[in-house]
Amino acid sequence: MRILMVEDDPAIAGPLEEGLTREGFTVQAAATGRAALAAEGYDLVLLDLGLPDIDGHVVCREIRQQSSVPIIVVTARSDEIDRVTLLELGADDYVVKPFGFRELVARIRAVLRRSEGVTQANGPESIGPLVLDLRTHEVIFSGQEVTLTPKEFDLLACLAEDPGAVRTRDQIMSKVWDEHWWGSTKTLDVHLASLRKKLDAEFIETVRGVGFRLAGEDSGQEDPGNKESKPT
Ligand code: CA
Repeated sequence: MRILMVEDDPAIAGPLEEGLTREGFTVQAAATGRAALAAEGYDLVLLDLGLPDIDGHVVCREIRQQSSVPIIVVTARSDEIDRVTLLELGADDYVVKPFGFRELVARIRAVLRRSEGVTQANGPESIGPLVLDLRTHEVIFSGQEVTLTPKEFDLLACLAEDPGAVRTRDQIMSKVWDEHWWGSTKTLDVHLASLRKKLDAEFIETVRGVGFRLAGEDSGQEDPGNKESKPT
């Protein structure tokens, strides 16, 4: 596993690189936002938010626009953390400085495990207008390729496991997020909203008081918005 370590403080970067290398990771170091954006060929990004040239939030968003690689944000400013903003920028997890090395490694492994977890599967799966390939993370909706963040993908994959079946918030949170992570189910709402924007608002149904499910072909028989009878 190759980690892109974006950290401008040599007092942190040095020992961190050593430690991660000892853990078996291949570390590529970048000390600036510019260097981070120019880097290629990595499986996970460890991103310090306080960089000398470009704001770490901007770097995070730009990396996410280019790829679905897992991003763990590292920040020294615990009080300034806006979790929802980080999520919207596409971060998968964060750690606050000073962090314990073991904790960081555990977070890295958890994020990698989660992104691998949904890739252990067969070929593309088709649910109504959706085609989902769990191996390649390709998503096609109504014939259009859709780019999802890793969390959006996990969320969709979780709902697609049993299309038509309702998943409760708790089930989704524990499957897609670690229970210690973010805490609030507002996280879920943020991702759900962006997923609905990228797909179709009605494709992910809210079952009031219960949870969510995909509106596949099988569950769409009582679609109130589609009264026209179409010739077959
Ligand atoms: Ca810094």
